[in-house]
Amino acid sequence: MNKLYRPSVYTIPVVIKDEPGKTLLIHGYTGAMDIASEKIMNCLQPEKRYSYDNIPLSKDVFDRLIARGYFTDKSEQEEYEYLKNFTSLFNRYEKTKSKVFTLMIAYDCNFRCPYCYEGNISGKGHQWSKKIFNKDTVDRAYQAMEEIEPNKNLRAKTITLYGGEPLMASNREIIEYIVIKGKSLGYNFDAVTNGYDLEYFLDLLGPESIKFLQITIDGEKEYHDKRRIHYKDGKSFDKIIANISKALKTGVSISVRANTDGRNISSMRNLKNYFYELGFYNYKTFSFYSALLCGEKSDVDKVKKNTQTSELNKKFEYLSREEFLLKQEQNDSDIWGQDYGVFTKIYRALKNSSKIQFHTIFCPSQTNSYILDPYGEIYSCWDTVGKRERCLGSYLDDIVWNEKERSLWHNRNIGTVADCAHCKYALFCGGGCMGKVLANGGSFESNFCDSYSLIFEKYVIQAYKKYRAEMH
Ligand code: SF4
Ligand code: SF4
Repeated sequence: MNKLYRPSVYTIPVVIKDEPGKTLLIHGYTGAMDIASEKIMNCLQPEKRYSYDNIPLSKDVFDRLIARGYFTDKSEQEEYEYLKNFTSLFNRYEKTKSKVFTLMIAYDCNFRCPYCYEGNISGKGHQWSKKIFNKDTVDRAYQAMEEIEPNKNLRAKTITLYGGEPLMASNREIIEYIVIKGKSLGYNFDAVTNGYDLEYFLDLLGPESIKFLQITIDGEKEYHDKRRIHYKDGKSFDKIIANISKALKTGVSISVRANTDGRNISSMRNLKNYFYELGFYNYKTFSFYSALLCGEKSDVDKVKKNTQTSELNKKFEYLSREEFLLKQEQNDSDIWGQDYGVFTKIYRALKNSSKIQFHTIFCPSQTNSYILDPYGEIYSCWDTVGKRERCLGSYLDDIVWNEKERSLWHNRNIGTVADCAHCKYALFCGGGCMGKVLANGGSFESNFCDSYSLIFEKYVIQAYKKYRAEMH
C-alpha cells in the first residue's frame, strides 16, 4: 500500500492579505519557506491524509511539499521527538558561541521613572545604592572575564555598560578608565542610558569606543516629561534631545526606544516626525522604535486595578501585547515595534534563498551572558540584576559559582519547557523572555508567549513585502 502523508504540525501558514490566494508557508524545523496556492492550502488542512495515489496535486508539487517538510510520514509524536533531538544538538552548538559580558556600572540612577523595573530593588528611588566600580574592581572584572572564558576569540568584542544609569556625570572618571582599559584589551562598548548627562561623555563616543547607545524617550515632550523625571531638575526631554544632536556628530549609533503604553502610543507618529525635523534621520546611525511598556505582574495589576495613586495612573497605562499591536497597526504601522529578530531572519532567508536561522533560546541569558556588578556579583539577565536570589556567582576574589542558579539559567531552552517543545514557533521564539517569565510569577519550566504568533505574522509580512518591492 502507498505510504500516507499528513500535514506537519510544525507548518506555519502566513496569509498574504494584499495578494489574494497566496499564503507564505514556513516550516518550523526544516526552515523552508515557500508560497502556496489555495489548492495547496486545502491539502494542508490538519485532518487531511494523502498518498501519491490520491493527492490532487502534481507529483512534482507533492514531492516538493514533502521534501520541504510540510507533508510528512512521521506521526505527531515522532515530529515532537525529532524537534527534541534537534533542539538538544542545536543548543549544544549555541553554547559554544562567544560569551557576552555586561558591566552593571551602578544601581544608582539620576531619574525617578514611575515604572522603573528596578523599583523593587531601589526602594522606588529612595534607597538607591551608591556602590560603583572603582579601578581595582574594574581590573578584577576584566580579569574575571578572562577566567570565565580564557579563549579571547570566544569573548564577544563588545561589552555593554548598563545600570541604573551608567553614564551619569559623576561616573565620568570610572567610565573613562573602563573604556581606555577595555580598548587596550580589544573591546568596544555599547551603553543603555537615559542620555541626560551624555554631554560629559562625548569624547568617549564613536565607532571604536562607546559605539552604540540605547536612549529612552517616552513620546512627545508633554508625555516624556511626566515620566522620565530627573531627581533634581525634573523635566528631561529638551536636554536629552540636545545631547542626541551632539552625540550623533561623533559617529556613535543611537537607537531611541520609546516605552509605549496606552497614554503615549498615539504620540509616536509626532515624535518620529519631530526626529525628522531635527535632522536625526540624516544620520544612518539613528533609529527609533516603540517598545511595549512591561512591568512586574504585581505592579501591572496595581495600575490596572487603579489601586495606585490617581496621579500615577495619569502617567501610564499598561497595554497587553495584543492591544499594543492593534493600536500600532491603527496609528503608526510604519513605526518599528519589537520584532525579536523575526523581520531580519525572514528577509535574509528570502533574499539569499537560504534556510531560516533558528535558535533554541530567547536570549543569551540562557547560554552565555555574564553581567558583572560593582558588588562583585554575577548575573545572567538584565531584568534580574540586583535580585540576590538570581545571582549566578561572585568574582571579586576567586570566581565562585552558585551552580544551581547557573544551571537553571544556562540549561533552559525550548526543549526543557513542555509547552514550547510542541509549539510550531519554538525555533523562532526560543521560549520567551526568562526575565518576564519570572516577573509574571513563572518558573524555569514556564513559557512566555507574549502573543508571539501575532508578532511573527506581522513581521513576516513586512519582510515579505520589502523583499517583493525590491524584486520589482
Ligand atoms: S532611567 Fe531607567 S533605571 Fe533610571 S529610574 Fe528610569 S527606568 Fe529606572
Ligand atoms: S513561549 Fe509560547 S510561542 Fe514561544 S515557543 Fe514557547 S509556547 Fe511557543
